[in-house]
Amino acid sequence: GTLPHRSQVDTALDEAYRRALSHHEGTVADYIPVLGAADPEAFGLCIADVSGDVHEVGDTRTAFSIQSISKAFVYALVCEGIGHREVRELVGVDNTGLPFNSVMAIELAGGHPRNPMVNAGAIATTALMPGATPERKWQLVIEGLSRFAGRQLELDDEVYRSESDTNDRNRAIARLLYSYGRMRADPVETVDVYTKQCSLLVDARDLAVMGATLADGGVNPLTGDQVVSPEVSRDTLAVLASAGLYEHSGEWLYEIGLPGKSGVAGGLVTVAPGKGGLGAWAPPLDGAGNSVRGQIATAHLSRTLGLNIFASA
Ligand code: GLU
Repeated sequence: GTLPHRSQVDTALDEAYRRALSHHEGTVADYIPVLGAADPEAFGLCIADVSGDVHEVGDTRTAFSIQSISKAFVYALVCEGIGHREVRELVGVDNTGLPFNSVMAIELAGGHPRNPMVNAGAIATTALMPGATPERKWQLVIEGLSRFAGRQLELDDEVYRSESDTNDRNRAIARLLYSYGRMRADPVETVDVYTKQCSLLVDARDLAVMGATLADGGVNPLTGDQVVSPEVSRDTLAVLASAGLYEHSGEWLYEIGLPGKSGVAGGLVTVAPGKGGLGAWAPPLDGAGNSVRGQIATAHLSRTLGLNIFASA
């Protein structure tokens, strides 16, 4: 099936927005110093369907850093580039049940990162990006993510510098993986590429289009560009279902029934396979690092638009 009629989608989007707007819980991330300056009231919601229709409400054209949401799309690009078998072997697909930047998770798994949506696995995945140098890898990341968004994305220098100055933990994670033979490139250079990928600027509309591209078998519904194969899209969505919302991935799947990925700047992308993508942005986060308003709005949309992939009717 497809999404309901246009007017029904618009109504559901407005309702979801109003509902979520009455919630003021959560806190803006500040472990990356510059993120602490985000407006806690900013909120945008967008749906892009696979036919290229776009529905928007609120702050959908305000830019923020993509952060962890980049992990999903870099993973897809790497699978497209080198084949998903090798990535699966090296990075895994199982939830850790532990915070996204956990060192203990790596140790408990004998040096394995477990999945590409935690920092360890994401850094190991970025190391697998085709391209012999970090400069080339970065170029391929920005080109690839721009194709998902259907427009040229840019780096937020301030976020990049703020995060670079404070990401000793990610460098430690990368070195630890390297010591276990789980990193196919220089750990410190790879963290730099990873930090840049997290500092790319997107808006809620971009996230919806990027999600719709995964919903559409890898074809960007606005540009018609085949960014990755249908198989890679499918595999990426499976990983998101198991690990897209940090250690709350199970609760999310149970409540919402869709693959999704959140980032610490308050972005959230959700994919209704074969139907469309949903982009949300609201900076205050819950304890696991997921946008509070983003989750509430997405839950409403999943229910009212009948998007839960486990529902038979
Ligand atoms: N760049 C952030 C980090 O590595 C991403 C975290 C996130 O969005 O979960 O800490």
